[in-house]
Amino acid sequence: MDGGGNSLPSVAGAAATKRRVCYFYDSEVGNYYYGQGHPMKPHRIRMTHALLERYGLLGGMRVLRPSPADDRILRRFHADDYVAFLRSANPESLSDPGALRRFNVCDDCPVFDRLYEFCQVYAGASVGAAKELNRGHADIAINWSGGLHHAKRCEASGFCYVNDIVLAILTLLEHHDRVLYVDIDIHHGDGVEEAFYTTDRVMTVSFHKFGDYFPGTGDIRDIGYGKGKYYALNVPLDDGIDDESYHYLFKPIMAKVMEVFRPDAVVLQCGADSLSGDRLGCFNLSVRGHGECVRYMRSFNVPLMLLGGGGYTIRNVARCWCYETGVALGVEVEDKVPDHEYIGYFAPDYNIHVATSNMENKNSRKSLDDIKVKLLENLSKLQHAPGVQFQERPTDMDFEEENEDQEDTNEKNDHNSDRDERPES
Ligand SMILES: [Zn+2]
Repeated sequence: MDGGGNSLPSVAGAAATKRRVCYFYDSEVGNYYYGQGHPMKPHRIRMTHALLERYGLLGGMRVLRPSPADDRILRRFHADDYVAFLRSANPESLSDPGALRRFNVCDDCPVFDRLYEFCQVYAGASVGAAKELNRGHADIAINWSGGLHHAKRCEASGFCYVNDIVLAILTLLEHHDRVLYVDIDIHHGDGVEEAFYTTDRVMTVSFHKFGDYFPGTGDIRDIGYGKGKYYALNVPLDDGIDDESYHYLFKPIMAKVMEVFRPDAVVLQCGADSLSGDRLGCFNLSVRGHGECVRYMRSFNVPLMLLGGGGYTIRNVARCWCYETGVALGVEVEDKVPDHEYIGYFAPDYNIHVATSNMENKNSRKSLDDIKVKLLENLSKLQHAPGVQFQERPTDMDFEEENEDQEDTNEKNDHNSDRDERPES
């Protein structure tokens, strides 16, 4: 990687090769609205899409409209009564207060208009992305509306209702022996870790702020349980981490994970709340530093899924995911944001890359070294495990391949189309 900002060393070789990329987008997704003052804004997905369109990136990939995930798909992970509750939840009519409390649907996770439909769309896109990778129709599958890593089996959490990541990984496991999950959101990827805590077929690696911070889990000592022991990795970080410190850990740890776990597919949750200046975050990563995680994971040439996640300064979320779509395609996007309907958000500089802050980096070299030593030690135990016996592929997870995702021929190669775009609510 060259150019301004941080000059992180790039991975040679495989990085230069082209990848077949598919991208899932539903033009309705930007219209879902969590409510006034709520920091989670699905509008950021539409802003990202508008940038991709104006940068001409849609022409370089297959644009697919997701089929909504039905109850049966959601119930592959979620409890029946929880799915039924989500389906019936409606802001117009009072829900049973006991159920709202039991399923944690309140405050952070409000009932809003067409909530269930929203869940179906973002989960359907992640499951669709998994199917594209399963079929070998794409090397990289992208769903920026997904990555809602906090949702539990029968509980909403941290703005997440349905765990599209778990559903996508379950789909990948139908065709792949080992799936690696990597999470660069500032928050711990608790819902995904918990779902696969006792299996050796899914390894979860989460880089997150730890210590007096939501959701509170993700201690370095949490490493998995039973057959899953050493198959969960937690990288606890402190405020103000910059690109250099982040990659001082990210690259050696991920290189070792790839070497010892040898995944057949990788799911990378690209939560953008780890960027500098995030409304809820406290890290100091640049778009380039965040995108370097995508570039690095792509360089291993293993089927890769890119998902969204957190991200609450929405102009920076759109910048980041546009840049990372470019990374997936092997294109370095121009720094100057082209004129488009949301250009006003990018004032006053109108650039993709924005300066990081001068905040203190509370991660000392000593603390980073301690973390690195400890995690590499855990990984060496996995390495020396005798011939890993993987459990049989689950057979009860099959479901018919109906409602195939449709190639969105209208949007493909049509950079000027703003079909279905609606005014901001
Ligand atoms: Zn987050």
